Amino acid sequence: MKRKRVVVLGATGSIGESALKVAHDIPDRMEIVGLAANSNAKKLAVAANKTRAEAVCLVDESKLDALKTALEYQPKILLGEAGLKEIACLDNADMVLVAIVGTAGLRPALAAIEAGKDLAVASKEILVMAGEAVTEAAQKARVKILPVDSEHNAIFQCLQSGSNPASSRPDVRRIILTASGGPFRQTPGRDFDSITVEQALKHPTWNMGPKITIDSATLFNKGLEMIEAHWLFGVEMKRVEVVVHPQSIVHSMVEFTDGSTLAQLSYSDMCFPIQYAVTWPDRVPNSLPPLDFSKLSRLEFSTPRYGDFPALNLARRAGETGGTLPAVMNAANEIAVAAFLNRKCRFPQIWHLVERVMERHETVAHPDLDAILRADQWAREEGTKFVKSLNR
Ligand code: NAD
Ligand code: MG
Repeated sequence: MKRKRVVVLGATGSIGESALKVAHDIPDRMEIVGLAANSNAKKLAVAANKTRAEAVCLVDESKLDALKTALEYQPKILLGEAGLKEIACLDNADMVLVAIVGTAGLRPALAAIEAGKDLAVASKEILVMAGEAVTEAAQKARVKILPVDSEHNAIFQCLQSGSNPASSRPDVRRIILTASGGPFRQTPGRDFDSITVEQALKHPTWNMGPKITIDSATLFNKGLEMIEAHWLFGVEMKRVEVVVHPQSIVHSMVEFTDGSTLAQLSYSDMCFPIQYAVTWPDRVPNSLPPLDFSKLSRLEFSTPRYGDFPALNLARRAGETGGTLPAVMNAANEIAVAAFLNRKCRFPQIWHLVERVMERHETVAHPDLDAILRADQWAREEGTKFVKSLNR
């Protein structure tokens, strides 16, 4: 069995850290050959020193000296956005793990596909923004897209879907995404206005980067994941549903036309889905703890509070409308989350902003990549105006 040579984009983040753990855990199956990060030169160097990756990339060129000082060997050093694309096409790589927060991973992901690399995708934002472009490019280049997001990795496992992510599945009746419900699962809607950044950053079951943690609190994360599932598995939006499952043990489920449902279960640790994306279609032993059923007292499921968490219906609307609207929703959400984290808007204003920008957008059907990028930029500008109007 072949050892997979992997480039990690977003190596200093939460997913990046888990990827390093997986590589350390299954060295016969995973080797890290490239590491890229935005600006944390020191952390990138520590990761490189540990893995001895042949190439590293730092997007923030001003930190080059810090990177060089901290490196204990001499990898190839790439810089800036051009460097990011270059490392995504590294000759020696079989697979690129896209774990950059937001949409900055889109261009390197497309470059990697063109260079014939399989893609392991954690960055759901790029699939929401440009799902059609990414899945079509992958089909054309005959490369695989392996989902890393835990829910989609679970669905991938339940579907045993093989290598054709965009193929439609007539035997699937529903895809059921599980959602922890986030820190405000039981908070009454009338208290949302006073939610603080610190409260929203305390996720009950997962330890993740700040953007996705806020998305999990508003449930925009699950909204983005609905659209992500639509593109990854070729299933219409109306067959993608959400169920709240506070324990985060069942990572998602697939209901088939014969009424049978398959689920995937494990503890909530991103090393599970990362490993499966890398070793697929094989399963290999590791040091991760299996479930201890004597300690799992219960698994609960309930319907989301759609009225209190409008993100789910906004995402459904965006996904069903299609065209440029999902890119607009995603970009507006990024602006809103940044504003909330910078204490420039209150918690419910995150979805107020997103809804307002979506309502003002004139959707372009079947957009090419340029049209998507224009819509993304437009939504960021509209969102920023909205934030400014709040702080006047
Ligand atoms: P994080 O904030 O912890 O890390 C972000 C990483 O992206 C860092 O390495 C940073 O250097 C890099 N980065 C940021 N901007 C960049 C840019 N312009 N160019 C290049 N690199 C850049 O985020 P995370 O929690 O690891 O999440 C990463 C992605 O994975 C997100 O899209 C998120 O939705 C997805 N995801 C994360 C988890 C999780 O458990 N953390 C689970 C599922 C999906
Ligand atoms: Mg997820």
